[in-house]
Amino acid sequence: MKKPILGIDIGGTKIFHALINEEGKILTEVKKEETPKTVDEIENKLKEIIKQYETETKLVGIATAGAVNNSNDKILSSTGNLPKGYRDIDFKNLNENMDIFIENDANAAAWAEYKVGATKGCKNSIVLTLGTGVGGGIIVNGSLLKGKSGAAGEMHFKMSTDKKRLCTCGAYDCYEAYASGRGLKLTYEEITGETISSYEIIQRYDKKEENAIKALVKWNEYIAIGALGLNNIFDTDVIAFTGSMAQFADIEYIEEYVNKYTVATPTKINKAKAGNYSGVIGAGLVAFEKTKQLD
Ligand SMILES: [Zn+2]
Repeated sequence: MKKPILGIDIGGTKIFHALINEEGKILTEVKKEETPKTVDEIENKLKEIIKQYETETKLVGIATAGAVNNSNDKILSSTGNLPKGYRDIDFKNLNENMDIFIENDANAAAWAEYKVGATKGCKNSIVLTLGTGVGGGIIVNGSLLKGKSGAAGEMHFKMSTDKKRLCTCGAYDCYEAYASGRGLKLTYEEITGETISSYEIIQRYDKKEENAIKALVKWNEYIAIGALGLNNIFDTDVIAFTGSMAQFADIEYIEEYVNKYTVATPTKINKAKAGNYSGVIGAGLVAFEKTKQLD
């Protein structure tokens, strides 16, 4: 019998949760809650959410910021816009009656796309989450690439440009510093000397402001250069874009660029299809996968 799974997606501002089935279909209304400001409050909020579903399922998958270890129960790295101490939450023991697994949110999104979305059935695929930063989930031979500790797929490899940009990780010129929303902001700043939000740049782009158009074109070029490198290394079936900035990615241009220069074989470039709740779906399905491995 197919059992429901609780999927939870913890973001910097919102927590989403819903029951899904083993095929990645959302079964209940997706509930949204504000992400609390302190670690204790987040922990209590998670306990409260999980408790609500206790009679319906015994399996929980949680998508979270930060790299997650290979047994899917511990965060290995810093977690950006979540409070200090968050990575030390004992996720496994949030509820003693439930089996709880966590996964990095970009990996969860990639797994959701692989199971039900834009990269469905493509055993070698990459999903890039374009938001304030850039998240990456890499599927190799039908499995999530986790690396020796679980931290693989971080989009902090170097770009060769005539710029010098400090990345959020402390190094210079990572892909993330170019392909993210922050990357667009820095590109606009380099063109105009003006510092405005990526949201404002998009508004100016919609009004056809010349410099905003230039910045978007350059931003897409940077995305394409990184995608080319990824395809050369992983020889992908498809690279898909998700996240709040993905709608501004010029799919046709990126695909043409990558396939013009690749020394691997041509790839497809796509927009994600699993929707805003790919974290909920992916986390639930990762948990399901984990129970299959443990059986
Ligand atoms: Zn970096």
